[in-house]
Amino acid sequence: MLNTKSDTLRRVVQADLNLQPRSSACWTAQLLSAFQGLRGCELYVRAVQTGHAITMQEFTADLKHRMRGVWRDAELVDPNTHNNKLATYHSWFAIPFSRNERMPINVPRYLHLDLSKHVMCNISRFRLRAHTLKVEAAAWLEDGTCVCDQCHGEDEHVQNKVHALLFCQDHRVCELRKHFSFSFTPFFEVFSAAQPFLLQQVNNQLVHDFLSQQNNRLFHFVSELMDLFVTGRDQSAADQPNNLAEGHPPLKPL
Ligand SMILES: [Zn+2]
Repeated sequence: MLNTKSDTLRRVVQADLNLQPRSSACWTAQLLSAFQGLRGCELYVRAVQTGHAITMQEFTADLKHRMRGVWRDAELVDPNTHNNKLATYHSWFAIPFSRNERMPINVPRYLHLDLSKHVMCNISRFRLRAHTLKVEAAAWLEDGTCVCDQCHGEDEHVQNKVHALLFCQDHRVCELRKHFSFSFTPFFEVFSAAQPFLLQQVNNQLVHDFLSQQNNRLFHFVSELMDLFVTGRDQSAADQPNNLAEGHPPLKPL
């Protein structure tokens, strides 16, 4: 803005620059404070103070690096041992970042498909933990228990997303897994019609790979699973897939 052809604008900006050491409320002070946490903070502050240009490509990459910090922290937390939404999302659903920080960020694949609103809503709720599985509902229910009430046995299991996806032995959930068995068998050797659930823990990477598979029918499985756990009803009639969801390639990211 110091290079503007407008003499008035140039003088206003210069006046604000001069005001910055004495006022934290001026534009320049607020701009400098927004640089905090960037790797090139000192460089950008000096550039503003001296009226020099900032390379926008480097600045944008720096901004992305700072925004990604929240995920770098989440990477250190195991969602199996910590009830943490960020860690859950990062371990099981997140799309890996490109190493090139200048590349645009991809959105989840299901958002490119022409799925029904009902399925879209269920997938989003499942991914973002906006559901009422016990692990989430325990925060506001009186008994506050995370234990799955669908499993009938002596062992107690935390009812979280991985439990619902792979471990719960409720007969309706097992029937649903058998119906979508082609989504399970490439990933879990022990999965079968006789035993449509897992008994041994699996690592987070395998869960992530399972949820990232290219088979679009997985989204219908997850949606119907949500219906069973959240509403207790099978609402598959509301989930009729269209041509895209039946296997057409996804649209290219915007
Ligand atoms: Zn269960």
